[in-house]
Amino acid sequence: MSCLICGAGAQVLQTGVADWEERECAQCGRYKVAQTLLSTMGDMVFDVDKTRQWIASNSGTGQAPRLSPLYACLVSAEPDANET
Ligand SMILES: [Zn+2]
Repeated sequence: MSCLICGAGAQVLQTGVADWEERECAQCGRYKVAQTLLSTMGDMVFDVDKTRQWIASNSGTGQAPRLSPLYACLVSAEPDANET
């Protein structure tokens, strides 16, 4: 499976459990994303830099930080300009 944030290879830790998708990416870290957020994203993507910063600042509690629809501000309508 691929990372929901940067698209690199990621390990799926949980899927479809209580509506949270949990993945661990070597680049982004470990995180959970709400299915409800994914379903509203459509063609939009996470802002990789902002989302990684958010994960980094919300990690360390022993739990994967949860990206709920409250964090839709981390979703960008435009893919990164430097994406190939
Ligand atoms: Zn990633």
